[in-house]
Amino acid sequence: MRAPIAFLGTLDAGETAAFRAALAAAMPEETVLPFPDLSPAQRAAVEIAVVANPLPAEVAQLPALAWIQSLWAGVERLVRERDADGPPIVRLVDPELARTMAEAVLAWTYYLQRDMPAYRAQQADALWRPRPYRSPAETTVGLLGLGALGTAAAARLGQAGFRVAGWSRTPRPLPADVPSAGTFTGEAGLSRLLALGDILVCLLPLTAATRGLLDARRLGAMKPGAALINFARGAILVEADLLARLDAGLLAHAVLDVFETEPLPAASPLWRHPAVTVLPHISGPTSPRSAARVVAANVRAFRETGQVPAAVDAARGY
Ligand code: NAP
Repeated sequence: MRAPIAFLGTLDAGETAAFRAALAAAMPEETVLPFPDLSPAQRAAVEIAVVANPLPAEVAQLPALAWIQSLWAGVERLVRERDADGPPIVRLVDPELARTMAEAVLAWTYYLQRDMPAYRAQQADALWRPRPYRSPAETTVGLLGLGALGTAAAARLGQAGFRVAGWSRTPRPLPADVPSAGTFTGEAGLSRLLALGDILVCLLPLTAATRGLLDARRLGAMKPGAALINFARGAILVEADLLARLDAGLLAHAVLDVFETEPLPAASPLWRHPAVTVLPHISGPTSPRSAARVVAANVRAFRETGQVPAAVDAARGY
């Protein structure tokens, strides 16, 4: 008899139920059991764990794991908590997640391009003052990260007529038909992209190389009056350095969905800063149904071929 799949996580009861139901529907041929329901013999035999913020102590009690399937796209916590010889980590690569994130990038890019923060402030002062219009074709969006999410965002921005520049670790083209302001790599490439972008969108993974990347120096290299959207991870941005640039009037606005500490503490100055929009980590939610379909395809391929799906490069961290 085939060992069950372990479901490990620290989600609330509603989220757990939604993911378990979606996984059961997407792969009825498998048994998916939460960690506490696994017998000692099953714990010894489990080959696949599907995880959402798992407790490392529970992962450690599954000695036969061949791979760990994350239900999130960002896996920095799993990578950090993984033993050097731990099982491969497979992150979620889901076209529905990419679509949702690209939609959020377009929505908040429009928010900035159409000057909504300024009109909101003017309304608070009952101020009737039209501002000059800047079209998408006159607006360059700099994308940090051209992976699954960055590429989908580039395509969506391009369809809306924005000029797009991209930065990645290795050279990556923008999708066809996207009005391109160039693609860049390396530190020199980053400086060029920062100087080009009217709106900078961060979609990088959090790794040793990207932690604190957006610090005073990099934020200082941004075009004066530009705006920032961080939909990746809070620790990529140095919050104090951002506040200093905003307070100096050198950056116009920041839309932040992710923070070093989540939920964002009530005492954080970001909550009440007039040039900051705070979102509660909602730009790219995992859909249980579509994620379960992706997981089911990975599981079936593994059962048929014994091949572990493409996994995170532990040295690179993503
Ligand atoms: P991905 O496919 O792995 O793409 C990552 C991109 O970043 C790649 O283009 C990669 O370059 C580039 N990159 C990585 N390290 C770099 C470095 N040191 N310098 C320059 N470029 C670098 O990841 P993804 O699926 O697009 O997801 C990106 C991140 O979004 C996730 O890690 C997660 O943290 C975040 N996320 C947030 C939410 C939310 O709700 N806020 C939801 C989902 C995901 P190469 O192309 O050369 O490899």
